[in-house]
Amino acid sequence: MKTAFLAAECVGVEGRVRNAVVVVEDGIVVSVGAREQTAIPSGASMVDLGDDVLAPGFIDMHIHGGAGHDVMEGTQEAIAALELHLARHGTTSYCPTTVSARMDVTLRALEFLANEIEAVPRRPAEELRARPLGIHLEGPFISKEKAGAHPLECIAEPSLGSFDRLWEAARGHVKVMTIAPEVPGAEEVIREAASRGVCVSLGHSNATLEQTRCGIAAGGRHVTHVFNAMRPLDHREPGILGCALADDSISAEMIVDGVHVHPEIVKLFLDAKRGQAVLVTDAISATGMPDGQYQLGGFVVEVKGDVCTSHGRLAGSVLTLDRALRNVMKFTGATLDTALRMATMSPARTLGLCGRKGVIGPGADADFVLLTTDGQVSRTIVGGRSQ
Ligand SMILES: [Zn+2]
Repeated sequence: MKTAFLAAECVGVEGRVRNAVVVVEDGIVVSVGAREQTAIPSGASMVDLGDDVLAPGFIDMHIHGGAGHDVMEGTQEAIAALELHLARHGTTSYCPTTVSARMDVTLRALEFLANEIEAVPRRPAEELRARPLGIHLEGPFISKEKAGAHPLECIAEPSLGSFDRLWEAARGHVKVMTIAPEVPGAEEVIREAASRGVCVSLGHSNATLEQTRCGIAAGGRHVTHVFNAMRPLDHREPGILGCALADDSISAEMIVDGVHVHPEIVKLFLDAKRGQAVLVTDAISATGMPDGQYQLGGFVVEVKGDVCTSHGRLAGSVLTLDRALRNVMKFTGATLDTALRMATMSPARTLGLCGRKGVIGPGADADFVLLTTDGQVSRTIVGGRSQ
């Protein structure tokens, strides 16, 4: 079954295509081209997307919840509600992210998330839900000095034994792991995780430049929410933050909600990281909900406006990726296409999914978002299906 999507403009692999036709078969993009140069296959159903811009669906590699639900809750209803909410905001793929919790609680959450990930191919195709790519383990192998809102008693020393227990519970569906490289035992775990294909992200860390470089040499290739939960920048000891900004071999993520970092710093980040700059939400269950008290993993977070705190420390956000995209344009003057790359192609590359996710090109999954020129979501398409 082929579908031809007609769009006034499409953000293709090599830039904008005007009057575009995107042909999709069985959830995969077959071809992308200008209408006058592209033959529409006979029998293909036609979907006219109007005047908006067709872009790749957003990828959120760091998100704990939304629509009143946390990914560690362990119910199918929670995951369904979250994924519907994500799709409404243009996010088509995500990494459900755990926070440090008691080991038995974490293991149970990982088993449940592994079930959900394995169930994706069996889901009814008409459900317009974001799809999980794999789990992001944020903790327990982080620094107690830079724990942020993570409960100190749940932080564990990294060891191959405990990593293996987490890996087994998740049945190998660990896609990202945030770890502090300076903590004893971390290097060995980074090496092992990287060899199993995990995107090792350095963060919640008080590492010096030297310790960060050791973490990168062991296999670290990303940095978790730069500027937050890390040693501040010092011009004589650049530390993990200096390294994150200056080292072109690694990518880094930022929470652009206007709360976690000042708008001026977003420009600095984008200038420093360019194609390696990734937008994440770090969103919690309160996202899309009124102010109040909400759950993040095993603890309670107070939410007022855009600010989420636990014991006076920032604890995640209520950001959505479409808003992050608009914030990047507003804070830095970046174009829609530049901001888009931070939510599509760059996270796909970081996750090792180049060509399959984050682009609209032959062979890629047909995950799209239709955007107005100022970055508002007008429609989302997951696996070639929309409502
Ligand atoms: Zn987080």
